[in-house]
Amino acid sequence: MIPIAEPLKPFLREALLASRSVLVFPAADGSMRPRDTPLQDVLRRALARAGLVNGYDHGCRRCKANGTPHVEHHDDAARRHCSTCGMKLWPKPVHRPIRFHDLRATTATLLARAGAPLVVAQRILRHSDPRLTANVYSRVDLGDLREGLNRIGIPAMPKLATANLRTRRRLSPWCPRRPQRRKRGGVTPQTISMRSKTYVSRGDRI
Ligand SMILES: [Zn+2]
Repeated sequence: MIPIAEPLKPFLREALLASRSVLVFPAADGSMRPRDTPLQDVLRRALARAGLVNGYDHGCRRCKANGTPHVEHHDDAARRHCSTCGMKLWPKPVHRPIRFHDLRATTATLLARAGAPLVVAQRILRHSDPRLTANVYSRVDLGDLREGLNRIGIPAMPKLATANLRTRRRLSPWCPRRPQRRKRGGVTPQTISMRSKTYVSRGDRI
């Protein structure tokens, strides 16, 4: 048995109250939905209503009727007009290709990030072998790696005194001193490379 997550309960109570029958998510007439109901589509439509989509296809109905379809893809559903005929475009959400099975992996990732023990995730996902769960748990992204590394207690770098910084700058090969302005003609200061100290001293001897 898997307990119902506490934050989910108000949503289920609402669904029970809205239902016309004893079923929680019945068909429109209160009866049980057929076995082959495409629940995946229900999930994708629900995600689209929540704004979780892969952008929107804005189509022109007039151009489509004329046999020359005009469709633009945008990240938002803002009102736009057809560049060909000027008619209002109709935004249609592009659904994310999410399956119910993907939600299992999402649950596992969220459990891992929340620090839930592997055995707890194994029981929730109903895996017989913990190695299966460990496989899902090992799917980490860069953010997870950064989070993990930041848990190590590394002491903060001490503040450097300004004088100290000045010495470092003078000694560092990456921060050379400005080349001195030459008194005699020949090489102008602009042509002297900032990094080439040897070139400057050779130039002085000419
Ligand atoms: Zn048009």
